[in-house]
Amino acid sequence: MSNNTNSSSSMMQSATDLQADANNQFSCQNYAAALESYTKAIDLLPDNIGSLLSQRSRVYTELKMYENALCDLDEALKYPGDHTERLFHRARVLYSMGRYSDTVDALKLLVPKNASYVKDYKRALERVLEQKYGRYDIIGMYNEAKHQTLPCLDRAEYTGSVKITDIARKGRGVVVTQDVSAGTLLLSSKPYAIVFQYETEESPYSAELIQMRLYEKLSQKLRQNPSTADTLLELCSAASISQPYKPQYMYHQGSRSYISNTLPPGTLVQIPNERIIGIIRANSFHVGDEITNYIEGISGEGSTKMTDGLGIWILPSYINHSCASNAEWFTIGDMLFVRAIQDIVEGGEVTISYSTESAFLPLAERNKTFKSLGFVCICEMCELERNQSEAARYRQLNHIQDIVLMKTKTHYNHEAILRIQSIIRDFTTASTDISSPIHLMGVVMFDPLVKLAANLLTCNEYKTASICVQAAFELLPRRGGILCFRMMRMMQVAGFYFKNGRKKEAKRWMDLLKQDCEIMFGGGVKLWEMLHKQDLINAIS
Ligand SMILES: [Zn+2]
Repeated sequence: MSNNTNSSSSMMQSATDLQADANNQFSCQNYAAALESYTKAIDLLPDNIGSLLSQRSRVYTELKMYENALCDLDEALKYPGDHTERLFHRARVLYSMGRYSDTVDALKLLVPKNASYVKDYKRALERVLEQKYGRYDIIGMYNEAKHQTLPCLDRAEYTGSVKITDIARKGRGVVVTQDVSAGTLLLSSKPYAIVFQYETEESPYSAELIQMRLYEKLSQKLRQNPSTADTLLELCSAASISQPYKPQYMYHQGSRSYISNTLPPGTLVQIPNERIIGIIRANSFHVGDEITNYIEGISGEGSTKMTDGLGIWILPSYINHSCASNAEWFTIGDMLFVRAIQDIVEGGEVTISYSTESAFLPLAERNKTFKSLGFVCICEMCELERNQSEAARYRQLNHIQDIVLMKTKTHYNHEAILRIQSIIRDFTTASTDISSPIHLMGVVMFDPLVKLAANLLTCNEYKTASICVQAAFELLPRRGGILCFRMMRMMQVAGFYFKNGRKKEAKRWMDLLKQDCEIMFGGGVKLWEMLHKQDLINAIS
């Protein structure tokens, strides 16, 4: 009897010691050691098992092992102790897991007890609106990202009416699961791994350096969360493509070991470094703050932030390229948004442009870029251009030369006006559908036509000028990769009309721009007002 009492008391002593040790390890951030001591203490089934479980859940939370943290908290709630505190921690774990509706439900019970939870409750509600309906406070995100050196935003991901599927001649791709109209948010995504330019101390900044930094981030992530390796390795790799540059770093050779979550527990998987580099090359997105770029673009300050970083986003990586793409992507902080910029019918493939303004380049140039990314473009526009006759190509070049010559005239006689009109007719009647890729083939005519229009205006040839501008924008349809450029030019045209005292035309172009702006970014009137010069908006409205 006395023996039993002794052993029980020494056991209790030992649980107390273990707990003290675990607490100590936890405060020193030695999570593995803390975990071991808490587990040993819990196994002794002491009286304070509830608080031990609750404490161990904090270690799991730090280690991002949220399922385990949740189990411990659910168990801890069966024992006496500070239940409000445990319930609150449970809500935070749910939040970290991205289970925002559950977080809201959990906090709903706590708010009446303690008003200090209201802030967390509201935050979780915002995440629910993002996750369920794709409703984001674009301006709030923009302002938040602008003031952070490493703008990793606390926002929910959203997957709209899209799914991954097999696409003929392309492998996998993304299609819409119902009809969507231009301006619909298709998805928003958090990065699997991201590196910002600020994080690379080397200067000058180079594409290869940032690729190397991203490679290091990926390796780090794979070491910390080996269970995510399969998601990453599902992505296609451009490893077999010859390098456009000479590899200077050791990371191109050898391989690393990771633990797989689909193979038997503890199985090590060798991933050749070349494969990871290939995944980066085929799937990484350049992070730039497009809204800032756009503001700088229209204010003529020039784009300075285009190479702000590099990241891998999983779902967006499945979207194929098209030179006449029907969707556009942009980033705010580390969040990547994909929006439809054309109407897309159910089952239609979602495409984005992998190369900004590539539509302005001739076919051969474009495909050089795509070859380095591991594919040959078979989009409608490329196919049309491949099949374009030599005669048609020659005529197109002639037209461009004529327009370029005419934009410097100081006077336009009747013959010149007729010639301009006939060239425009030849270009724009190629298809009655102005969003057709056929029109994109005339995209090279855009700048010469706008410049000609400006000159015509100064010569008081208003009617022909307006025909030129109209045609120019028909030749520059709303397509991915060139949409921001189109918007900047619309702003300039509106400004030009305004300066020439033609308020009605200026307003018309501002209205068209407003429409494109909403389709591109969403964000409503407030974003529009933030982006565009207030004095011009006031003047013409
Ligand atoms: Zn193409």
